[in-house]
Amino acid sequence: MDKITISDIKQSIVLCEKDPWDLDFNAGKQAFSGLTGGGAKFGKVCPLKNYKKPCKVCEKAVSLFNTGTKQDEVIARKIYAKKQCFWPVWIPSIEKKPFILHTPVSVAEEIMDGVYNTRLWGNIFHPVKGRIIYVSKIPPKTKDDWVSYRTTPDPEGTHKLPNMKILEYVPDMDKIIDKLEKEETDGIRSLRDILEPNESLKIRFLPDPKHPSHPPLRIVWTHYIDDVTLASLEDTEVSTDELMDDSAPFDTTDIDEIPDFEGDEGDDEDIFA
Ligand SMILES: [Zn+2]
Repeated sequence: MDKITISDIKQSIVLCEKDPWDLDFNAGKQAFSGLTGGGAKFGKVCPLKNYKKPCKVCEKAVSLFNTGTKQDEVIARKIYAKKQCFWPVWIPSIEKKPFILHTPVSVAEEIMDGVYNTRLWGNIFHPVKGRIIYVSKIPPKTKDDWVSYRTTPDPEGTHKLPNMKILEYVPDMDKIIDKLEKEETDGIRSLRDILEPNESLKIRFLPDPKHPSHPPLRIVWTHYIDDVTLASLEDTEVSTDELMDDSAPFDTTDIDEIPDFEGDEGDDEDIFA
C-alpha cells in the first residue's frame, strides 16, 4: 500500500472543503413545494400557518367554507391566510444598502424554479458566482387581465459582489415575522411599489449570511383583516353583511409609503458613502 503523504491529506482537505454559500437543494425544494397562491399585501401574521398555534381567523374561514354557500365562500377566501414572500436584495438604483424585498408569489416561484428545480440559473445568490436578475412588470392586456412579472437572469453571466462588506448590511431575515407582527415595515419594500408597468429592474438577490446555503426566501402567512374585525371574532359571530361590506372591515389600502431603509450608520468604514 502506498504511503499517505501530507500533500495527499492537504489535497483531500481541499477536495472536501465545502463552499458555505453552496446551495442546499433539499431545503430549496421544500421551500419551493410550499409555494402556491399568495397575496398582494402585508396583513396580520397568522399564528396557525406560521407557528401551528390556534388562529381565530382561520377557524372562521374554515367554518365559512363549510357552510357551502357561495357568499360564505367568497368571504372565506378573502380572510384566509395568504403567502407573502421576502428576499434579501441589493438594488443600488433604489437604495445603496441591501434591504428586504417583498415579491409576488409568481416571482418567487420563477426564481425558485430556475435555481432549485431546473437549476438552469445557477446559484444566483452566491457572493462571487451569483447573477443579476431582471424583473419586468407587464401591464394587463385587457381589463380582466392581471399585472404580471417576467423574471430572467442576466445573460451576461455571473456577477461578483463588488465588496463582500455588502453582506454585512443584509437585514436579519430571521426577524421578518417579528417585524410584521409589530407592523414595522421599515427596511421592507414591495416590488409592486418600486416597479412601474413596462419597467424593468436589475436585482441582485443576496444570500442570507446567517444561513448561507439555505434559500434566502422567507414566507410569512398573513390575513388581510383589521383589528376591529379580528377582535369581533373573539367572542361573537361576525355578521355576514359586515364581512361582505368592502368599505369597512378589510384593510384594502396598499402599503404605498414605506420609509427608507435606515441602516447602521456611523461605522468606521461606510462602503455606501
Ligand atoms: Zn390564521
